[in-house]
This record gives sequence, C-alpha cells and structure tokens, in this order.
Amino acid sequence: MSKDCVRIVGVRERAVPLSRYADATVRSGGLTTSVVAIESNVTRSGKRVTGYGFSSMGRFAQSGLLRERFIPRLLGCEPTMLLDSSEQNIDPFRAWKAMMNGEKAGGHGERCVAVGTLDMALWDLAAKIADVPLYEYLSSLVGLAPSRTVSVYASGGYLHPADDLLKLKDEVRAATELGFDKFKMKIGQETLENDSRRIEAAASVLSDARRLAVDAMNAYDGPRARSAAQTLQGYDLWWFEDFCDPLDFELQAEIADMYLGPIAAGEALFSSAEAKLLAAHGGLRKDRDILLFDPVHCYGIPGYLEIVRVMLDRGWRRESFWPHGGHIYCLHLVSALGLGGAEVNPFSFAPFGGLADGTTVNGGRVDVPQLPGIGFEGKADALAIFESI
Ligand code: MG
Repeated sequence: MSKDCVRIVGVRERAVPLSRYADATVRSGGLTTSVVAIESNVTRSGKRVTGYGFSSMGRFAQSGLLRERFIPRLLGCEPTMLLDSSEQNIDPFRAWKAMMNGEKAGGHGERCVAVGTLDMALWDLAAKIADVPLYEYLSSLVGLAPSRTVSVYASGGYLHPADDLLKLKDEVRAATELGFDKFKMKIGQETLENDSRRIEAAASVLSDARRLAVDAMNAYDGPRARSAAQTLQGYDLWWFEDFCDPLDFELQAEIADMYLGPIAAGEALFSSAEAKLLAAHGGLRKDRDILLFDPVHCYGIPGYLEIVRVMLDRGWRRESFWPHGGHIYCLHLVSALGLGGAEVNPFSFAPFGGLADGTTVNGGRVDVPQLPGIGFEGKADALAIFESI
C-alpha cells in the first residue's frame, strides 16, 4: 500500500432532532436522524474532502448501531480494501461490503438505516473525490444516461394540533407558490369524515384532486382500510399510500382489488427479498401503482439497486419508482437511474427537507444539484449541521 493511498481518516456521527412541521416547536414525537461525516485524506483548496450523510426521514437516529458496528468496521479494515480499480478513489460498493461483514441475512431491523446513512456519505465522498455531481458519478457506474432535471412533488400536510384546515391550505398554497403542481398530504390520524374534509380543503387549493396524493402512514386495520378505500375512490386522487401494515400483503392485495386508483407502497420495506414478496403478494398493478422504497432505509445505494433490479425483472418500469425521502439526495438517484420522480419536503424536516438554496420548480421539475457530490454545500442550513458534527 502506498503511503498516499486514498483512505478514510475519520468518521463523525451525531443524532439531531427533526420536526415534521415548519414550526419546529410543534411536537413531532421526538423524531431524530443521524448525521455522519466521513473525512478522507484527499485535500482540495486546503480542506479535507468529506462526505456527508444522514438517515433520511421518519425512522429515528441510529447512533448505537453506527458507533458499535458499522463505523468501526469502516475504520478497521485495510484501506486498500475500500479502493476502486483506479486506486484513486473510494469504491462505495466495497465499503458497503466491509460494513456488512459478519452480518447475517434477514432481520433488517434498524441496521438497514444505519448502513444507508454511512452509504450516503460514502457516495458523497466518492463523487466529490471524482469532482462530479453524484448523479453523474452513479449513472456512469450503472451505464445509464442521466437527466439534468427530474420530476418532483411537494410533501407534507401533517395534522396540525390547532387550526389544522387553515394551516393545511396555507401549506398547499405555499407549495404551489414555489412552483410545485402536485402535493402529498397525510391522513389516517383522524376519522374518515375529518380526513375527507382535509382532502377536500387541500384539493380546493390545487384545483384538481388528481394532483393530490394521500399517505395514511400504515395506520389502518382491515375495516378502516376498506372504508377509506371506498370513500377515497370518489376523489380520483393521484395516489393512495401506505394504508396498512407494510407486511400485511393479504390486506393490501384485498384493497388493491377494490381500489381502482393508483396505490403507493414500499416505503417501509427494506430489502430485495421483501420487494419480491411485495411483487408476488401485494396485489399491486404495474400499469399504475407507485414504488416508494427509501434508498437510505434500504441499506443505501447497493441495496436500492438490487430492489430496482428485482422489480424490473418482474416487469415493473423505472417510472414507477418515486423514492421516499424528500431531500436532495434522491434527486440524484432519480436522475441517474431514470426513475419517475422524487418527493420534496419543502416545509418539513429542516434542515434536510426541501431543495438546495435558490432552486426553482418549473412545471413540476427541478434541476439536479450540480456541485460535486450530493451538493449539501449548496444548502446552507444542512451544511451548517454537517460542519458542526
Ligand atoms: Mg409515506
């Protein structure tokens, strides 16, 4: 090994609070995410090139797993084991294998999120060392032509503890003023009658319910799922997301059989084996339904690529994938892998939700960040957190 071999010299990790609301003082269930920084010995402009990652939204920080298993494995392996064939850069696929060394199959638990968190930082680091945006770096590896712009929709619409209808309409209106033409809101915490009022309120701002998706966050049992499907059928929504337990394929297939509009699923499935089960037993329709797998929560890019492959092998289209997350990382994956589009959380999960500073939404599309790596350096609020780890 050369003394100058590219290597990781340190990994820092911290748990930070996240809020589902633009007003972070509104209680949000103690939600957290892990932020990580992977520092290399490569220097640019006098600074060490550092990759940044975080645990996406919704599944809490992974501090214990990161500190006890996955960071020590990255730091403990021979540096040459992490290099690509040029020996001038980290190979994120080899680093992924090093992190998973000794892990048994199955039992994904929360480790898939911890690995996906470090994986995001490793891809950010590798693309930065290559001095290209992540979408260019990834697309060249997978052999696909990337796009400079991708389709997006605004996501949010969480139930407010006070003045909910007013705040919901304000939020949808603010999203349209930013240029978004589609919106996804949460349902499932209220009675169906109240949720119907909320859906009608949001749809009135969009002027067309076909621009509105609803996400029940896996809240329904069988009777509630059946009632909701019957009621929502009348709205002609863009899609109906996550209405039952993510592994209750029997109930999901039953609802898919009675609900004619598009259904979105897969956000809380984490492996290619689970994707196979979804494809075989979930009752989904390839001509209209949406696949939400979160690339970070699915063990990162190596795991996500395997899920995409599994679903393509079963006749699904790349356009069916709209990855969960709502942050700029997913814009790169949508571009590089030719996927349908990306969620954006313009008013939730600060500082990670939303787009890079100065990004405009035109006709429901945005430019993919052009800075090297993921481009967190173009999102000042997120960068401040990463630099403080
Ligand atoms: Mg969801």
